[in-house]
Parts: sequence; C-alpha cells; structure tokens
Amino acid sequence: MSKKKAKSKSLSRPTATPVPVEISCREVLREISNFIEKDIDEGLRDMLKRHFAICRHCTAVLDGTRNVILLSGDDCTFTLPADFSARLQKKLAARSREQ
Ligand SMILES: [Zn+2]
Repeated sequence: MSKKKAKSKSLSRPTATPVPVEISCREVLREISNFIEKDIDEGLRDMLKRHFAICRHCTAVLDGTRNVILLSGDDCTFTLPADFSARLQKKLAARSREQ
C-alpha cells in the first residue's frame, strides 16, 4: 500500500546541501557515546551536532544509544555487553554500505 502523492509543488531548492558534511557517519558513530557522555572535544562536538542536523540516520542512532545509556544509568539492573557499540557500529556500517 503506497500512497504516493506528488503533492509538493516545489521540491527544487537552490542548493541541495548548504552545510558541507565535515565528518563521516562512520566517525560520528565511533564518537556517539562520547558525545552523549560529553566526553568529547568541543570542536568535534560541534561537528557532530552539525552532522546530526543533516543526517537522519545518525540522529536515530543517537536517540537509540542515548535511551540505552539513560536506562542503564538510571538503575544499574543491567549492563551493556562490552562489545555493544562495536556490534552496533558493525551493523550500521554494513547497512550504510548497502545504501
Ligand atoms: Zn550520519
């Protein structure tokens, strides 16, 4: 069931990407837990923020990771597997390769 209505009259914007991507998704994902824990260089944090503003994919990962970290921080009833972020990154890397 796909209701695709070409409703939007003007999809054409002058420039597709006004903000240049300064950091790759792969790098973002590598720094994501540091970003959440604010254990990160200010310049890098800015770059990540800018990346999140334009990359839905990484934003989704950020939200997911943040939830997990918040949960585990609130009450320490469970701990993340040590290889959690490694596995996550692997998965994401594989997925972004498919695109
Ligand atoms: Zn990204």
